Amino acid sequence: MKQWMVLGMAALMVMPVMAQTKKKPMKFANNNVVAHRGAFKANGFPENSIASLQEAIRLGCTGSEFDVRMTADDSLIINHDEHYNKLLIEETTYAALQQFPLSNGEKLPTLREYLLAGMKANTHTRLVLEIKPSGMGKERAVKIVDAAVALVKSLQAEQYVVYISFDYNMMLRLKQLVPYAPMQYLEGDKSPAQLKADGIMGLDYHFSVFEKHPDWVTEAKQLGLVLNAWTVNDAAKMDELLQLGFDFITTNEPELLLTKFKKRK
Ligand code: MG
Repeated sequence: MKQWMVLGMAALMVMPVMAQTKKKPMKFANNNVVAHRGAFKANGFPENSIASLQEAIRLGCTGSEFDVRMTADDSLIINHDEHYNKLLIEETTYAALQQFPLSNGEKLPTLREYLLAGMKANTHTRLVLEIKPSGMGKERAVKIVDAAVALVKSLQAEQYVVYISFDYNMMLRLKQLVPYAPMQYLEGDKSPAQLKADGIMGLDYHFSVFEKHPDWVTEAKQLGLVLNAWTVNDAAKMDELLQLGFDFITTNEPELLLTKFKKRK
């Protein structure tokens, strides 16, 4: 009797959690458009702002990319450059940085705020989370990856997130921590076969890398790797990569690429 009661109570405790995680089935938009730093350009939003993320979601992009860095006091924030308002992010506290708003008046977003905004009313846009390399050594790099992954997990954002990085050690750390998470390597110095051997199942290289190594497109497809290219703003280059069947194309011109993608269908 007692055993059944304990089991029953355990089931009751587990059920709401399961219901919560099953609530939002993801059905990512059926296009290959990743807005680079959000859809910022057409509306003059700041890059990497929540406004640019929300615009990418509104447009129906299949992904919206953003850059993550860690402050001196271990806050994860969204910014592309090493510096923010001439302050080196890794050597400055979050409080000191966030005194300076973005050009649209938004507060400098934390990763927490960005993920929460990205999950709100969104079941179609992937959150493409770039972890920027650290200038403070390998240990710090691991710490940044660990903190980003822990935050993604704690916010139950896993089903939205694709991890990308230029730092191969960060990729290997991601592979250790979240082996099944979608991830793409950015630097362009490893062949698809090398990536596959390390269990990194995606590549997101500058488009010129695929001009130098056209065979990598076929090789990646044969090996079942996800193919992405950055940052493709030129109409002819978009056509070429669409023709080659890239899974994703990362662009500052998501509106143009969406139009092209729809025309092809
Ligand atoms: Mg980036």
